[in-house]
Amino acid sequence: MGAPLKITVLGSGTSVGVPTLGCHCAVCTSTDPRDNRLRPSVLVSYGDRRVVIDTTPDFRAQALRARLDRVDAVLFTHSHFDHIMGLDDVRPFNLRQKGRIPIYAAPDCMAVVQRVFEYIFSAEPRDTFVARLDPHLIDGGAIDLFGLPFLPVPILHGARTIHGFRFGAAAYLTDHSDIPDSSMDLLRGLDVLFLDALRYKPHPTHSTVERSIATVERLAPRRAFFTHLCHDLGHARAESLLPPHVRLAYDGLEIAVDGCVA
Ligand SMILES: [Zn+2]
Ligand SMILES: [Zn+2]
Ligand SMILES: [Zn+2]
Repeated sequence: MGAPLKITVLGSGTSVGVPTLGCHCAVCTSTDPRDNRLRPSVLVSYGDRRVVIDTTPDFRAQALRARLDRVDAVLFTHSHFDHIMGLDDVRPFNLRQKGRIPIYAAPDCMAVVQRVFEYIFSAEPRDTFVARLDPHLIDGGAIDLFGLPFLPVPILHGARTIHGFRFGAAAYLTDHSDIPDSSMDLLRGLDVLFLDALRYKPHPTHSTVERSIATVERLAPRRAFFTHLCHDLGHARAESLLPPHVRLAYDGLEIAVDGCVA
């Protein structure tokens, strides 16, 4: 008898968030709460475990909103600002849980995390309390987190290779412009697939609505959710133009994934 797997969307917005500072467009001034998008991240819950994919600059607000009361592990997709900068805010969970928190990233991403948060990882003695984190490098193999394997899925974000993750019958693929065929093979038979769909217009490092619909058609998950959305997409109208099994993610959305884990 396993635990049900749940995904909570902590943020569905692009790197600058929506509303975007200084912008007064229809989406940035919308009263639909689904048009308020913090930076992109999801929380994966199963049993009493809480795994966060990316710690955005909005992590503290996201954790409060989701009433998050523990973090068992953090997985990083890549080192861009909108995916790492909230890491320091896991500190209170170190105290509550009386333990260290493992973090997982590819070597290039971990190098940036350790440089940006140098004070956390430096061996120098200190007087103040810093986050206690155990870095683990992603080497391509599945990461077993408390009985649930998280499989890193290489994806292309412009010229760089970053990672999405497959876990159970779900996969989360944020920032990408292309998915190599070898990675497509890792994404069959999904109940839930999250995909980057920044906007309608092409972008050098991000997928578009049209492109991600084509990915959904190829992979045929039961349901797909688009995320990393910019202010070109108003929730109600953009979603009305999508096939019924493809929806726009929004902040606070909770999805129960088919099948039990761990
Ligand atoms: Zn991003
Ligand atoms: Zn706007
Ligand atoms: Zn990025």
